[in-house]
Amino acid sequence: MTAIPLRELIDAVADAIIEHAGELTALDQAIGDGDHGINMKRGFEALRADAAKIAEKPLPEALNAIGGMLVMKVGGASGPLYGTLFMALGKAIGSASDIGGAFAQSVQAVKARGKSDTGQKTMLDVLAPVQRAIEDGGPGLLTRLPTIAAQAAEATVPMRAIRGRASFLGERSIGHMDPGARSASIIVTAVCRVLEG
Ligand code: ADP
Ligand code: MG
Repeated sequence: MTAIPLRELIDAVADAIIEHAGELTALDQAIGDGDHGINMKRGFEALRADAAKIAEKPLPEALNAIGGMLVMKVGGASGPLYGTLFMALGKAIGSASDIGGAFAQSVQAVKARGKSDTGQKTMLDVLAPVQRAIEDGGPGLLTRLPTIAAQAAEATVPMRAIRGRASFLGERSIGHMDPGARSASIIVTAVCRVLEG
């Protein structure tokens, strides 16, 4: 596997999440309890503070450390789910033949942890299409993925929430973008921008 600029990735993702914290909170105010931006900001600030130490570790251990940090510091429903994503990625990256296969396993782990699937107006509605696009491959993938992620987040607007706090709203969850779908698209975009160099 080619060298991954882990330090840069952590910094870029943390910066993007912190920059968009207000927007994430506003989205969560519409269909949740208004803490998604605060939760994510807290977690990614903690991650950024530890970035140098984490980036020294071999990739599987680094991903595991990132996941553990997000579980501890983000909290809410999204912390354990994003935590699972990164911890499972760390575990899978050693055994899977490529990053696409590893990411497929980690999205699967989020589904298991959340007892959730696509179409339920959650982060999975971004993570799963991104994972499929990675698996499909093709030219300009890193350039295309941010658009795929943004469109997938947009596609949660007309969905009715079946999982998470927004599901308590039933029909009234329709017409708003899912906060976790938006944060997933922010993360994907930040990662792609760094990897594109
Ligand atoms: P909380 O809902 O506890 O306040 P957050 O506001 O931080 O936690 O995160 C909410 C986001 O978590 C939702 O927008 C959704 O994307 C995601 N989420 C919640 N429950 C699930 C689940 N069971 N599976 C997948 N994603 C979920
Ligand atoms: Mg919330």
